[in-house]
Amino acid sequence: PGGGSSTVAVQATNDDATASKLSCVTKGYIYDDFVHLFVRRSVKRAPIINRGYYARWATMRMLLLQFLESDLPNASGPSPKKQILSLGAGFDTTFFQLVAEGRAPHKFVELDFLEVTKKKAMMIATKEVLLSKLGPGKPEIDAGKEGIVSERYSLLPCDLRNLKDLDDAFAKAELDAKLPTLIFAECVLIYMDPAASRKVVKWCADKFESAAFVIYEQIHPDDAFGQQMLKNLESRGCPLLGLHDTPTLESKERRFTDLGWQRAVAMDMDAIYHQQLDPVDRRRIERLEIFDEFEEWNIMQAHYCVAYGVKDDTGVFYKFGFS
Ligand code: SAM
Repeated sequence: PGGGSSTVAVQATNDDATASKLSCVTKGYIYDDFVHLFVRRSVKRAPIINRGYYARWATMRMLLLQFLESDLPNASGPSPKKQILSLGAGFDTTFFQLVAEGRAPHKFVELDFLEVTKKKAMMIATKEVLLSKLGPGKPEIDAGKEGIVSERYSLLPCDLRNLKDLDDAFAKAELDAKLPTLIFAECVLIYMDPAASRKVVKWCADKFESAAFVIYEQIHPDDAFGQQMLKNLESRGCPLLGLHDTPTLESKERRFTDLGWQRAVAMDMDAIYHQQLDPVDRRRIERLEIFDEFEEWNIMQAHYCVAYGVKDDTGVFYKFGFS
């Protein structure tokens, strides 16, 4: 798989996501003590974008905490060590936030294109507040700062279209196939050729004995809003290559169950917002800004979804997922 301008454009979507998260933090939608360290120029997003990022963040956070707090059925001893693997992690700060909250898992591994991991490694290596979160032990940061390997956090270059890269990263980060693992890919697989993203989904199912794979991405390319969404990203040089392959909730679920996952659930963000998120927090954020784009809000949210597949040979995921 080649690089080229589209690869650069896909990486730019990461800068966009990071800037949007900072906008949400500034307005009080979400908390994140570290995202400002990864943004060069802060921007103010429209209320509808802030609300959308809030919904995305709150959903991912809910699933993340479910995983971290999960126990084996009838467990009496301590819960097993856990791992998180973030595919196309960009400048995501979840690891640092979890450390600050005293909730970091045994291992947290982030993968992205070399150009992205290089920048992120550089930022981490030069900021004590981030660097100090990597402990215990001395992190291995290579001279060219292409990535980081430490006992609990690894940031490694990987083109997800090459399974060899994935295998190498798995080994280098010393991931353990037996430990319960949460994998997430937020707005990542959708930019990949469907054949390549399928291979990633299958690779994860084959690799881990007990795992959940959570994705956040677009659906419904065919109506007016969907067409616009496709056109917007295409004109920025990052077409949503996967959207026609998995255009519906059912097809997102099927991708998991066809490729080695035992159960799968997909729900659109409109339903998640109303049915899954904490209503008290929802009311709180709804008061933050004047908001009158109700019709567009509902349409927009119906074009994004969270889907997950679960493969659980140990039982640790027995309560995992939407209610
Ligand atoms: N997941 C992060 C988040 O939610 O903030 C970043 C999302 S950004 C929209 C998409 C990320 O996926 C970019 O950082 C991009 O570099 C990465 N990505 C896309 N295709 C990839 C590939 N084939 N291999 C590795 N990373 C990829």
